Amino acid sequence: MLNLVLFGPPGAGKGTQSEKLLENYGLIHLSTGDILRGEMKAGTELGVKAKSLIESGNLVPDEVVIGMIDNKISDNLDGKGFIFDGFPRTQAQAEALDKLLEAKGTGVSVMLSLEVAEEELVKRLLERGKSSGRADDANEETIKNRISVYNKETSVLVDFYSKQSKHVGVYGVGAINDIFGKLTNAIDSIKVG
Ligand code: AMP
Repeated sequence: MLNLVLFGPPGAGKGTQSEKLLENYGLIHLSTGDILRGEMKAGTELGVKAKSLIESGNLVPDEVVIGMIDNKISDNLDGKGFIFDGFPRTQAQAEALDKLLEAKGTGVSVMLSLEVAEEELVKRLLERGKSSGRADDANEETIKNRISVYNKETSVLVDFYSKQSKHVGVYGVGAINDIFGKLTNAIDSIKVG
């Protein structure tokens, strides 16, 4: 299987590049943010519980997202592989993902990290907020909190995957297709197990 972790701070372009990558490689897209927003929209118990955390820019508990990902992996094992978008976001999530994939006889192929400066992220997210309808894109304070949560809890995963020789950094500013080209070059140069 080809299992990609598409990584980076909020606003780095993970969603945009995921769409292109999944089409190109025929992968299943697993975005924990999308799944959680779906739960919120449907008004499920999980959605109701997660709402205030999401809208304030904080993370939902590890066990919640790990459970969601576990179910989605099990449901799609006959596919070519997965793009993990917005997951893992903590060390505990990354360790759990390794275990889940290992139990299915596979693993993370590569972690592609989109690198974008903070000022540009804030600009992009405020712009997206004009049309996304997302409460967590609506104001600068929440956006800055999301970036700060990323810096405190998520950015350590660069080390986690570097230690496994799976981290590839890609500069995430420029034309969407140019960035996509850099991502596909990185993917095509790894050996698919
Ligand atoms: P995203 O669409 O990836 O920007 O995620 C939106 C929000 O959903 C985040 O700010 C978190 O509140 C929550 N969320 C998404 N993915 C995760 C995750 N892997 N761990 C914890 N919270 C998450």
